[in-house]
Amino acid sequence: MPYLVRDRLFIGNINDAAEVLQNGSEEITHILSLLSSASISFFSEWKSAMSFPTREINKVYFGGSVDDDDDDDDDGDKSSNKVLCLVEFAGKDLKVVRMAVPLRDMESENLLDYLDVCIDFIHKSRKEGSVLVHCFAGVSRSAAIITAYLMRTEQLSQEDALESLRKSCESVCPNDGFLEQLKMFEEMGYKVDTSSSIYKRFKLKVLGDTYNRGEIIDCSKFGADPGFPTAAVSSETSNGLGKSTTAYRCKKCRRVVASQENVIEHMPGEGESCFEWQKRKGGNPFDRSDNHDCSSIFVEPLRWMTTVEDGGLEGKLLCVHCDSRLGYFNWSGIQCSCGSWITPAFQLHKSRVDESTL
Ligand SMILES: [Zn+2]
Ligand SMILES: [Zn+2]
Repeated sequence: MPYLVRDRLFIGNINDAAEVLQNGSEEITHILSLLSSASISFFSEWKSAMSFPTREINKVYFGGSVDDDDDDDDDGDKSSNKVLCLVEFAGKDLKVVRMAVPLRDMESENLLDYLDVCIDFIHKSRKEGSVLVHCFAGVSRSAAIITAYLMRTEQLSQEDALESLRKSCESVCPNDGFLEQLKMFEEMGYKVDTSSSIYKRFKLKVLGDTYNRGEIIDCSKFGADPGFPTAAVSSETSNGLGKSTTAYRCKKCRRVVASQENVIEHMPGEGESCFEWQKRKGGNPFDRSDNHDCSSIFVEPLRWMTTVEDGGLEGKLLCVHCDSRLGYFNWSGIQCSCGSWITPAFQLHKSRVDESTL
């Protein structure tokens, strides 16, 4: 039986969802499925007797492209993209609206990137009916998503939101990686702020995990090249007109190689635990007085860093225009001259780049 968490909001396991899909429900009109595959076939793989009719409403990919399922002139590009969510009518008489996001219950799984679509879906579903949020066991994934939802809608800390959820359903227990990401969600102000250093560090860590698993790193997934004309225009519009930003140029040929938005701040002199930087007590972590000790800036990986594609653990970063050496990258980290370790690291030597206003 699903547990009632709030008015029109339930948490449950795969059994609860299968029951609603099979027999319909007087109460539940919407289902949010958090399983390792978004496809409804997950249910038939779980119990072979089980299969449900579906009619796709749409499929959204990372990067924002939407597949409305009314044509088949897909460009090949889409199919290589990762599914963010799938929305369909499902179950008996196609009465239930099901949104599925592919999410594994692993500490290294990227939960943050799914939070916005999930929270929006829960929000809309509760206006139209009642929603069941479920994963396989109803313990980790569904609990993590509902915790995020309570955090945002009730402005609760991660601990308080989870505690409140436990009052409805004792067994909830998001995995440690999810808890850590929910803490970041709290620190970003109950939203996923992709421009914040917290988010950028997180994405870098996810990318580092991808590399460590032996997957091929493809530069097209990196941040837009700030020196590439179209990227510069779009970043200008997203910044608001006339707002200037610091640019880093190759000292030799003056090409822009990074902008302030690409920089991943670190706290000078801190040790291995770069992830702990925002939790330090006392003082301003970005106190500029210490910054002269850093001989490098560290940035997110950018599309011009093609030497990364060779697959090596470390390598040079060369200016895309004049080939002069700007810095290094190293997946296992680089120690800044201030003592901080940045892992993984994409480092530009201050002596090789000039700071200017873009
Ligand atoms: Zn430093
Ligand atoms: Zn250059």
